[in-house]
Amino acid sequence: MITIQSFEFNYFSVNTYLLHDETREAVLIDCGCIRKEEELELSNYVNTHKLTLKHLLCTHLHMDHVCGNGFVSKIYGLKPQAHKADVEALPTPQEQARFFGISDRIPNIPLARHIVGNEVITFGHSELQAILIPGHSPGSLAFYNRKEGFAVTGDVIFKRSVGRTDLWGGDHEVLIAAIKDKILALPDETILYPGHGPATNVIEESLNNPFL
Ligand SMILES: [Zn+2]
Ligand SMILES: [Zn+2]
Repeated sequence: MITIQSFEFNYFSVNTYLLHDETREAVLIDCGCIRKEEELELSNYVNTHKLTLKHLLCTHLHMDHVCGNGFVSKIYGLKPQAHKADVEALPTPQEQARFFGISDRIPNIPLARHIVGNEVITFGHSELQAILIPGHSPGSLAFYNRKEGFAVTGDVIFKRSVGRTDLWGGDHEVLIAAIKDKILALPDETILYPGHGPATNVIEESLNNPFL
């Protein structure tokens, strides 16, 4: 049984998700901590629950979703994993920060490896399937667990909204088509954990999302 702990970090209110099961093995998705107190909040949770971090996954490589990767790499010795298309299309995190007018230094931590669409990532007794859903960025991934009925969806879809497509490699038509094809095809009751804002589910968005 997977426990999903979420944190809200940095100037962009990114949802960082820490998933762990009964083995105490854990996966960190979109580590966005940037302030000292955010790093402490994360490491306190890991320590309190005696977790072993197995993977650092990125739904995509926008700076608000990767700015904690330097901390995780330093403290836990884990390098990030993401889809290759984002590495090729996006500026470095530091260049993105400059674009958004942010003065903090955001280190560019090289990826451990590339995640490909449909691959299965395991931790403890659990697994996540990577689903490629381009449009917000070319390499945007959702991490899906069919058995427990949830997906961590990054900035692809939000409650009653969808991801912006005006950044590097974004494409609104591609995004909407990919959401219909890959998200709305999941079972109705699947819970969607987005990169910003509250969780939702497939049936709610298929009925009420004005962009779909
Ligand atoms: Zn994004
Ligand atoms: Zn974001």
